[in-house]
Amino acid sequence: MQENIIIAQPHTPSWQQQLSQAIRDPAALCQRLGLGDTWLPGARNGHQLFEICVPEPYLSRMTPGDPNDPLLRQVLPLNAEAQTPAGYVADPLAEADHQPAKGLIHKYAGRVLLIASPACAINCRYCFRRHFPYSDNSPSRAQWQETLDYLRADTTIHEVILSGGDPLAASDRQLTWLVEQLDNIPHLKRLRIHTRLPVVIPDRVDDTVLGWLGSTRLQKVVVLHVNHANEIDQAVVDACARLKQIGATLLNQSVLLRNVNDRVTTLAALSERLFEAGILPYYLHVLDPVQGAAHFDVPDEEARELVAELRNHLPGFLMPRLVREIPGEGSKTPL
Ligand SMILES: *Cc1c(COP(=O)(O)O)cnc(C)c1O
Ligand code: SF4
Repeated sequence: MQENIIIAQPHTPSWQQQLSQAIRDPAALCQRLGLGDTWLPGARNGHQLFEICVPEPYLSRMTPGDPNDPLLRQVLPLNAEAQTPAGYVADPLAEADHQPAKGLIHKYAGRVLLIASPACAINCRYCFRRHFPYSDNSPSRAQWQETLDYLRADTTIHEVILSGGDPLAASDRQLTWLVEQLDNIPHLKRLRIHTRLPVVIPDRVDDTVLGWLGSTRLQKVVVLHVNHANEIDQAVVDACARLKQIGATLLNQSVLLRNVNDRVTTLAALSERLFEAGILPYYLHVLDPVQGAAHFDVPDEEARELVAELRNHLPGFLMPRLVREIPGEGSKTPL
């Protein structure tokens, strides 16, 4: 008797599955990348301070066996994270002082930042929010009403920035609702989304996202976060193309990071690769002095020299603006 033959369909996990299957364990990370045990104790120590999280699409762009891989450097905890040099603090941007409502940061004229999701799809070791009390800042519907009331009452606000965490880590149900509410506030013109998800899990840019983002009357700006050209593979290029199709302007912010992108050739290649994906460089941030990240620091003088030299390699429109965020200032501060 002949058996029925079932041909397995190639199955792409949903973005949620890709996120839930992310590596969150030091040993698994070292093993996945064939790093041997040298890096494990440091990874374990750093993981205690800020847990590891790296989804497969991002891992797949790393070179196995290379401890200096510029993508790995961004996610692999090191013993150095336990150091506590002077000047490195838990909340370097003093964000706790600028929250008129829970999850709402209003520091700059005309624009506000909303913490739309406490979660990220990846944990970057240099993140200035690595000590952020997200549990106090993931608003319920009632708290969202408070935020929306604030936005409705202040007609000087023209732009809402969804940030986090990563706003695209929130559910589409929540985001659809929120964007509808924002759409109905007449003095709002722009919706900006600060996200690393299209880079970390490109499948996040699915039809549902394109639906709610594409249907708002607000002008759309998506600010990605890419630090190295190797982060942009074909899947990322395709995700960016989908965002452009619905009329989003794509920009990128990077952080200048020791041993990741602290060379002129690396920064030039990043700008070139961004533009191939339809993204314009926006900011190059110097590191915020957050506890646990001092080993990523590039001194100001060196940062200025790098950027001055970069100008000799790139057209002006591919030059990111070198900035620092200084608590209390009304904008990012050019260096
Ligand atoms: C960085 C930031 C913004 C956006 O600044 P732009 O210069 O417009 O990109 C807005 N609000 C807060 C709180 C910020 O930290
Ligand atoms: S907020 Fe951005 S930089 Fe920080 S961990 Fe999340 S994705 Fe990385």
